[in-house]
Amino acid sequence: MADHEAPGRLTESLIEAGRLLFARPCRFITSAADLDGLPAPNLPEIAFAGRSNVGKSSLINALTGRNGLARASNTPGRTQQINFFELDARLMLVDLPGYGFAEAPKGLVERWTRLVNNYLKGRVVLRRTCVLIDARHGLKDNDREILGMLDKAAAAYQLVLTKADKLKAGALADVLARTSEEAAKHPAAHPEILSTSSDTGSGIAELRAALTLLAT
Ligand code: GDP
Repeated sequence: MADHEAPGRLTESLIEAGRLLFARPCRFITSAADLDGLPAPNLPEIAFAGRSNVGKSSLINALTGRNGLARASNTPGRTQQINFFELDARLMLVDLPGYGFAEAPKGLVERWTRLVNNYLKGRVVLRRTCVLIDARHGLKDNDREILGMLDKAAAAYQLVLTKADKLKAGALADVLARTSEEAAKHPAAHPEILSTSSDTGSGIAELRAALTLLAT
């Protein structure tokens, strides 16, 4: 193999490593309504955050190839909990409760902020938070609040566009460029933004590959 082919092969092997890891058994561990309910911090954790309806459950299901692993419907006012899924004893996938219900009562918002903030600030095994952004809408103010919270907690995060299938290529490139420009201003943001679709599967292999680098 010529030297110039090496980077491509590396990516290919990483994609394959991601495919293999995410094909392994993934099981629900627990739901935590407060810090006392968190499981022992034995594995590197990847958290998933996003506005309600952003496509978070669908993305976790697409990554693991298991429909119904993460509940695909979230109802306003339902008890907000952090759900933990263990992937092959190598990685913990952490489903943070969705945010941004317009009609959410103040008490619920405060509870959400306290729970998520405490988790982000105190979780030594947290390796990365994927902040999901609906490709049709781009960053909204309540997403920006979360980015600010992650910056303050010094918790590394990566922006991931969802529902990319809903946009034409040009519009997707625009939202990617705008989002990248804004992410560059945030100290804790990963420079690379991934664009995904749980419907078509685009970007899922790349996200698996990126997360595989963080597994034990
Ligand atoms: P959550 O509230 O963030 O967990 O969002 P869900 O995963 O429940 O998805 C919310 C809605 O968006 C559902 O109607 C999904 O079918 C839809 N959805 C999720 N992902 C995609 C996607 O990649 N493409 C399209 N077109 N729709 C999606």
